[in-house]
Amino acid sequence: MAELNDKIADIRKEYRNIFQVSAEAINNRIEKIKPQNFKGELLNKYAANSTGQNWQKATIKLLNEDISKEIYRKLNEIMAYRNEYKCVGCATCCNLACSEFSPSELKEKADNGDIFATQFLSVFIPYETKEEARKIYPEYIELLEENDETDVYFYHCPKLTKDNRCSDYENRPQICRDFPDNPLSILPKSCGYKNWKDEIEPIALMLHAMIEIVEYYTKELTVLLK
Ligand code: SF4
Ligand code: SF4
Repeated sequence: MAELNDKIADIRKEYRNIFQVSAEAINNRIEKIKPQNFKGELLNKYAANSTGQNWQKATIKLLNEDISKEIYRKLNEIMAYRNEYKCVGCATCCNLACSEFSPSELKEKADNGDIFATQFLSVFIPYETKEEARKIYPEYIELLEENDETDVYFYHCPKLTKDNRCSDYENRPQICRDFPDNPLSILPKSCGYKNWKDEIEPIALMLHAMIEIVEYYTKELTVLLK
């Protein structure tokens, strides 16, 4: 457990550093497209069609076209690289799926057309108690508790047989085929994708930081340009 917590602490520290470096890199690119001799700041309010506003519009374009495309191209490369690794059939992901949403919240989302929620509910049913989930992956449950992550619901798949095989393998839904689709998800040591995740984690953290920065500037600039 201490090992797992140390790892999370390291990731947080690493993420802070990566975030800072990513923000500097993006800010440099924004500065490069700043009109010559213009002294204003990016997040000031400017008159319509002024030099400042044109810079803000060009920045939105830079963020949402160039930088976003680079992010998604890199994310696709990471996911393609995952194919070099294989599931070893430990069944932890079938036995313990976590969601920030309760069964009724997932149902509401599914009724509103959320595809992930629909697929999730077609596979997983909730554990009656957290203690049942703890038996499957105790380190993960402890980690959530120590980090005060209380709003987590635990699920499992009833199609898993006693010998940890999928009883409907040919028809398993896309979310099962795609797992793990988030390069930053916590994977058990037993998972065949654990080495993939460890290897790509620094770049995944950088992409995550870049997405946060792009979203922040896009939101702020959109408000200023209204
Ligand atoms: S449908 Fe099969 S692969 Fe998907 S969670 Fe259930 S047992 Fe696992
Ligand atoms: S946790 Fe990883 S190795 Fe285990 S069944 Fe799921 S995908 Fe396969």
